[in-house]
Amino acid sequence: MKKNRLLSIVVPAYNEEEALPLFYEQLRDVLDELPDAYEIIFVNDGSSDKTGEIIEGFAAENASVRTVHFSRNFGHQAALSAGLQRAKGDYTISMDGDGQHPPKLIPEMIRLADSGYDIVLTQRIEPEGKSSFKKWSSETFYKILNKVSDTQTLPGGADFRLMNRESLDALIALPEFHRFLRGMVSWIGFRSVILPFEVPERLAGKTKYSLKKMVRLASDAVFSFSMLPLYIGLSAGALFFVLALIEAIYVLSFWISGRSSSLAPGWSSLMFMMLIIGAILMIIMGFIGVYVGYIFQEVKHRPVYICRTAPSEKKSSEASEASDD
Ligand code: UDP
Ligand code: MG
Repeated sequence: MKKNRLLSIVVPAYNEEEALPLFYEQLRDVLDELPDAYEIIFVNDGSSDKTGEIIEGFAAENASVRTVHFSRNFGHQAALSAGLQRAKGDYTISMDGDGQHPPKLIPEMIRLADSGYDIVLTQRIEPEGKSSFKKWSSETFYKILNKVSDTQTLPGGADFRLMNRESLDALIALPEFHRFLRGMVSWIGFRSVILPFEVPERLAGKTKYSLKKMVRLASDAVFSFSMLPLYIGLSAGALFFVLALIEAIYVLSFWISGRSSSLAPGWSSLMFMMLIIGAILMIIMGFIGVYVGYIFQEVKHRPVYICRTAPSEKKSSEASEASDD
């Protein structure tokens, strides 16, 4: 095993004064057993309770703890991003500060990364028979998201994952403002493996994900990973166009069979104009939608592609590192 490897742990925390001390103890117990050096980055996401003081207390007694404080509550994904940007580790693990991402899985995640995976994802498995609003909404959400999006996101995926230096650098390089990290991690590619885990109860306190925050996350996910909503106009336009055609054929059939007198005067032309104008408007809106979509993709400034080190290069760099020791 390589010595002098640095492991970074990124923990976003919003009003977690009750859970943090317990979580920190669990985390320390696991990290102290590992042969690697570590740093823990706590990101205080504008908490209004004692979270800030508590993490400063950890930092005062442990030089491996670093802290970041937001000026207000910017949200979980922003807090994660801040921590990930500051992580210096060869491996970086992001996890919640409430104990729902059990620190005891860390050694297994490291083992999987050592066996050649760039990213170790985790997937929540809820205990059988337990039905909750959260579980149902999450399942429905991933089903819809994966239907409308080009990027496939792991259902039940959590922001509990390990990334090696190369994949994390690729993720950090994505500069977009609306961040749905689970989708972005899947978008950058790389070799990943899934580690399922059962979600334990919170150590203390209540969920910090209000319904409003969940809806915002879901809309960030849909609108930044799917262009489908923009194509709705175009599809509606096509539908109206088909309706206009059907109407024309219907009217024509009356003329051909010599029953044109049974048509109400003015009905056919009025109907036809309505359908055609509807179709034209919708189609034009659809075109504008497509252009907006292209503009949107451009302004996201995502790279056109991301490379990864070839396995052969990796082996040779490891060999040279070993000979340096
Ligand atoms: N969190 C955060 N900012 C927020 C909301 C949540 O940093 O605006 C943190 C929170 O402290 C926790 C993690 O994100 O460490 C996950 O939140 P929570 O446990 O409340 O979500 P749940 O597990 O209920 O989905
Ligand atoms: Mg939680």
